[in-house]
Amino acid sequence: MPAGNPETPLCEQFGFDAEWRQAQLLLVGLDACPDDQVRQLHEQVLVHGVVEQVVDRFFAQLMRHAQAAELLSSFDLEHLKERQVAYFEEFGVNCMEAEYFESRARVGIAHARVGVPLSLYLSAFGLLQALLLDAVAERVGDEAGRQALGGLLMRLTTLDIALATEVYHRVQIQELDRSVRHLERQQTVLRKQLEQDALTGVSSRTSLLHEMQDALGRAAKTGQPLCLIMADLDHFKVVNDSHGHLVGDKVLKEVAARIKAALREFDVVGRFGGEEFVILLENTSQHTAQQIAERIRQRIAAEPIRVAGQSLQLTISQGLAVRRDGDDVHTLLQRADAAMYQAKQRGRNCVAEEPGHAARR
Ligand code: GH3
Ligand code: MG
Ligand code: MG
Repeated sequence: MPAGNPETPLCEQFGFDAEWRQAQLLLVGLDACPDDQVRQLHEQVLVHGVVEQVVDRFFAQLMRHAQAAELLSSFDLEHLKERQVAYFEEFGVNCMEAEYFESRARVGIAHARVGVPLSLYLSAFGLLQALLLDAVAERVGDEAGRQALGGLLMRLTTLDIALATEVYHRVQIQELDRSVRHLERQQTVLRKQLEQDALTGVSSRTSLLHEMQDALGRAAKTGQPLCLIMADLDHFKVVNDSHGHLVGDKVLKEVAARIKAALREFDVVGRFGGEEFVILLENTSQHTAQQIAERIRQRIAAEPIRVAGQSLQLTISQGLAVRRDGDDVHTLLQRADAAMYQAKQRGRNCVAEEPGHAARR
């Protein structure tokens, strides 16, 4: 690959830029282009027959190791051997180029994905190195040549080892990153499920109780008024009994939408139980809360709800409680509930204030 070409994808992905590659080459002592020596290596040592023998010995040795043998058992050994032979065809050729790093990186990725333990991976590389050095010793007659080609071989295999382990490491980090992102997405979904009522989309009971707790804390600090409405559909059981549960569900969705439409943006509405909704009104006076409750009552009673070709007339009863000093979530809810019960007793489709207050219609 001619110099100046754009970075190849894996090098780019793993940050093996020109500077990193140069530093890596210098580290293993490949600072000058060793093309002539690489050619000699291929002509004298990595020749047909010798390479196959090295590869055979390599796999035979690996098969003696239980874990390696087990890993290899799930592959076609002949195919692996062919790949290993092909790996030697390119060995050291244009080793200063990005493309060379690219092809070496690909090998590291393959091994990391298969799950080869790093210690085994490094030992296998060491074994390969030793077998290649044996081949150099057998094939190169003169001492100087043996030393030169042996040294080159060590440098090239060290470069391969460095690249492979670096890639191996980065792939594992990428996979960890991926699982963390997956978990984060799941967490968001779960949080949403916890916070939102699945049927109506308003706050869930859990989320509502948290919001109430927080709002009570703020109100106690600032002294701002806080009101709570407990709203319960009237005779809702009749809807289910006459039209079925699915129609009942659609009615609940529409009721939640109408309540929401009657509120201000910062008010909180949650589904407290089956057909009970709680509305939390922060920084809101009793008078304003009464008006809001009345708006809710009208929005529901004013127009029948149209579901599955039916036109259903519904009403809602509401109880209103105002925060008092010393209130907690439980006491405030209890008073709103008691007020709602009064509204039912007074004939439904009305708003009752805490015991002692008059009902309004
Ligand atoms: P009241 O005016 O006294 O409140 O009468 P009601 O019929 O509304 O009260 P009751 O508590 O007897 O019935 C509430 C009904 O709400 C009973 C149950 O079938 C229904 N319900 C509760 N949750 C759901 C739900 O998620 N979907 C549907 N469709 N119905 C539900
Ligand atoms: Mg109820
Ligand atoms: Mg009811």
